[in-house]
Amino acid sequence: MPNPKHKTTKSKVGMRRSHHHTSPLQAVKCDKCGELKQAHTVCPACGSYKGEQVVAKKEV
Ligand SMILES: [Zn+2]
Repeated sequence: MPNPKHKTTKSKVGMRRSHHHTSPLQAVKCDKCGELKQAHTVCPACGSYKGEQVVAKKEV
């Protein structure tokens, strides 16, 4: 049976996994309502995207 010749050290595992992180989501202000929202997405607060109303605003 083929087997690795040497044990993978914690150090080598750490070096390999150093690239496994994800970058935090970009938060930008909405053009319309100024609420913080995720970039390139419809605003969850007012339902607008690039200054246009694309989703009907939820009535509270
Ligand atoms: Zn908005």
